[in-house]
Amino acid sequence: MKKNFLLLLTIAALTMPTKAQKEIYPTYVGSDLGLTFTPTTSSFKIWAPTATKAQLKFYRQPIGGTPTRTIDLKQSKQGTWAITLQGNYEGVYYTFCIQHEEKWLNEVADPYAKAVGTNGKRAMVLDLKKTNPIGWEKDQQPKLKNATDAIIYELHIRDASIAPSSGIANKGKYIGLTETGTKNPAGLTTGLDHLTELGVTHIHLLPFFDYNSVDESNTAPQYNWGYDPVNYNAPEGSYATTTADGAVRIKELKELVQAFHKKGLALVMDVVYNHTGITDESNFNQLVPGYYYRHTADGKYSNATACNNETASEKAMMRKFMLESVLYWAKEYHIDGFRFDLMGVHDIETMNLISAALHKLNPNMLIYGEGWTAGASPLPDSVRALKQNAAKLKGIAVFSDDIRDGIKGSVFEAADRGFASGDTSKIESIKFGIVAATEHPQVNYKKVNYSKKPYAASPQNTIIYAECHDNNTLWDKLAISALKATVAERIEMHKLALSIVLTSQGISFLHAGTEMLRSKYGIENSYNQPDSINAINWNLKTHYIAVFTYVQQLIQLRKAHPAFRMTSTAQIQTNLKFLNAPAGMIGYSINGAAVKDPWKQIQVWFNGTSKSIILPAGLIKGYKTVVVNNEFVKGGVENLLVNGYGCVVLYKD
Ligand code: CA
Repeated sequence: MKKNFLLLLTIAALTMPTKAQKEIYPTYVGSDLGLTFTPTTSSFKIWAPTATKAQLKFYRQPIGGTPTRTIDLKQSKQGTWAITLQGNYEGVYYTFCIQHEEKWLNEVADPYAKAVGTNGKRAMVLDLKKTNPIGWEKDQQPKLKNATDAIIYELHIRDASIAPSSGIANKGKYIGLTETGTKNPAGLTTGLDHLTELGVTHIHLLPFFDYNSVDESNTAPQYNWGYDPVNYNAPEGSYATTTADGAVRIKELKELVQAFHKKGLALVMDVVYNHTGITDESNFNQLVPGYYYRHTADGKYSNATACNNETASEKAMMRKFMLESVLYWAKEYHIDGFRFDLMGVHDIETMNLISAALHKLNPNMLIYGEGWTAGASPLPDSVRALKQNAAKLKGIAVFSDDIRDGIKGSVFEAADRGFASGDTSKIESIKFGIVAATEHPQVNYKKVNYSKKPYAASPQNTIIYAECHDNNTLWDKLAISALKATVAERIEMHKLALSIVLTSQGISFLHAGTEMLRSKYGIENSYNQPDSINAINWNLKTHYIAVFTYVQQLIQLRKAHPAFRMTSTAQIQTNLKFLNAPAGMIGYSINGAAVKDPWKQIQVWFNGTSKSIILPAGLIKGYKTVVVNNEFVKGGVENLLVNGYGCVVLYKD
């Protein structure tokens, strides 16, 4: 959820949006909207069914200057306007504008534009093949057998490298994440090498489509998360080494993908189809005023996103746009997964069409999203991709805010604590997350913080996490809420929180830097804060190397043991049993043998209190230790004392 991050004032409405909630325009069925390029012809086509005239303008440069040519488009079938030009137009920048209700609207880049120049104002004709890095045709995308095998790491491109401590040369750039051998001042790995050392499987990068809030023509330091789309099908320019040539951002993003894939890392793209960064003057509204959005009964833009507008995925051409857009990214850039921002805005049918098409293209595709909105939508809850409808989403996971806030306390109440910070009233919310929001006979759903019933059809439906880019970091939340705890205790709480995340069923998700106690200095919503708040400080790895090592070992444990990654609700119901734990603790066993785990039996124990508690001797008899009090320790289990905020993992082989 993105709150209050976009307060752009838009110029007075050019046209009142139509009240159209039904398909009143013809749907274009072809797949050639935008530019179709060959070295001998360039075909341009837009869908603009209300237009009475349409023009294409050519420019020499991405911004400034006057058109070198203005070409009238011809009205074509199903609401389209088109022209095919003979010759090689590589390097030409172009815009469209249409006449609507006898008025010429603003020039815009084509909404389908795949290449844009500075600030995405003009599209660019180019040969995409020429943007492929050397060896691109041999690029191998990582395999993903089950979604529950994924361990996601959520990272902002600029945050990864902008601090001096990163040791990375191309700071804040796509290609900064292609550098290897980079080190912090103490000689510990940073950037790409750090990600592979940590052992995560998927890197989820915050928005890298072309967004609005960073002025690409200004090289002074600027910052934004990027949840304000301008051009959905072109990469953001501020992460490229130059924006003067629209080809560079494409090539450099592909280099990043290639570098990840060479290391076996999958790349998840954060997509934001739920709203556009600007409203009246968006590319969509300049071609078909009002069409791509939902409206309230009085004809205004509805606002389920809290960003001034919400798109209408249920409309044929918006649905088509989203579908073609994700497929384009998956094919052209070899993207391995998609994370849908405010997915609860989109309708279930569209999301399932997208999932089916992406999985058909690549069975290893990982798809997940936020199963909520940031406000009310005119489209009924029952047909939208909300968390409560997760079981209707095929091959798509939703974030579990239940376990997130069960672990650390509500993100909306600063003082609220979670199980990992001593509030043992949150035990059922943790158990809910341990079984990945599936139905389990030993979870008391009435006592779960948010959801009063299971919503996941399978553990592959659920993202398990303690923090993401929104809200305080876990480390900051602990500082704000666990006021009586010492720093040493808060470190144990943090390790307990990540122990819960990485041993629970479902799909693991980590926010970048959590493995070294990342802080944003108490800034709760850092979407536009400077690098001094957002940058990953790689010196933290030196200070908290023990925490890093523990998280790395937890990841190794998860990867080595399918018992933590069961693939069906039935498997969890049969093989995961909650144990009769001492007060303030959670304990459960997994029948590893039943899911072909190298360990026949596993037990996991979490202590949500500040006190040491001795584990019931009868229950743990015959087991060996792997984790004791948030550290990997091999040994026996006699008189096993679990420290406050300690995690214990035991096994029988
Ligand atoms: Ca941009």
